[in-house]
Amino acid sequence: MQPQFYMYCYPWDLEDEGLEESIGRLAGEIGVDGINVAATTSEVLHYRPRKPLEKRVFKTEAGAHFQPDKKFYSSCRIKPHPAAWMKSRNALERIVKVCEKEKLKVRASINCCVGRALVERYPFAACVNALGVISERVLCPTHPDVREFLAAMVEDLSTNYGLEALEIRELRWEDVTDHNENEVCRPPWLPVAADLLSHCFCSSCRQAVSAQSVGGDAVLQAATARLEEWLDHSGTENTKDRSTLLYDPDVLEYSMSMRGFVLELVSELKQRAKCELAVRYSARVFPADADFIQEHLMERIDAVVVSSRMLGDGATESTLDSHVSLIPSKLDVIKSVEQTDTSTMQALVASTLALAERGYRSISFSDYGRAHQHTLDAIRQAIRFARRETR
Ligand SMILES: [Zn+2]
Repeated sequence: MQPQFYMYCYPWDLEDEGLEESIGRLAGEIGVDGINVAATTSEVLHYRPRKPLEKRVFKTEAGAHFQPDKKFYSSCRIKPHPAAWMKSRNALERIVKVCEKEKLKVRASINCCVGRALVERYPFAACVNALGVISERVLCPTHPDVREFLAAMVEDLSTNYGLEALEIRELRWEDVTDHNENEVCRPPWLPVAADLLSHCFCSSCRQAVSAQSVGGDAVLQAATARLEEWLDHSGTENTKDRSTLLYDPDVLEYSMSMRGFVLELVSELKQRAKCELAVRYSARVFPADADFIQEHLMERIDAVVVSSRMLGDGATESTLDSHVSLIPSKLDVIKSVEQTDTSTMQALVASTLALAERGYRSISFSDYGRAHQHTLDAIRQAIRFARRETR
């Protein structure tokens, strides 16, 4: 099978370079089969490495980079909000038009739950941790209004833009890495404390879990007690002993139920999608276990999107050791331009060919706006070489 190559693109990078110019270049000079454009994102502060982009810095709040079609959201309490940088244009629509002309396939990605501006508008659906801290950055995917909003957005995007596929990202709860570490005062982390604080205990989560298995309120009490124990004793006792004491089997069962809610939501989104649906693998929600991904995630959707690092590509170690059991034709693999093997043309050409030979559904480079000119040149060579060698 001939490999398919894609480039991840942020709409503002394409717009600022000129759509005809940037998309023409991707199709002609670089030679990808398609692009994957961000339809919604969290907040972004982008220092741009490449000319001719005049503005060396781009900044946006979390938002939608398309104009929502109102009819899909009439019964929704949460709606997508167009980002200010677009003014009143529809960036996605403009990009799709030029891609049609250039015969490029278009995939789009949705950032589901993360963004300060989104949570500011809809605080009632925010994640809440075990010590009652309401998230300022992450909406809870268990909340019925969040689920309805995501389903409507999937239907809107997959109906209106002739997309080949939609990619779902950041379908998750808040975890401790969402907090700005410069603003947080706390004792040293124990991994188990960080894990406990990365569970959502909003009323939607507790109710949903109680309806299924363990009592959500009881688990919250247990989690709170263990966190208090961490705060009481941090730094005073043997950390290792304390770690095992803090583990709670009910919290583990709670996590399993929560994971089940995300999987159910993935199925709901797949039903609403009028194009292919892919899900970006996240170690925050799913175990790094090939059997789990194959049995529980792949069967619900058209593809799972993973970083090539997770498949043991390049210098880094694989975290999906048994990747051989994953179905390559249902995997979209991303090579980040920041990976060490993209720093020289030779290394990128070799690692791209290695991926192409494994028969993945597609290989994507991430991303256009962060790549230096020499990286784009290397990507062009890598694609040509891989096509020729796998013919
Ligand atoms: Zn929740």
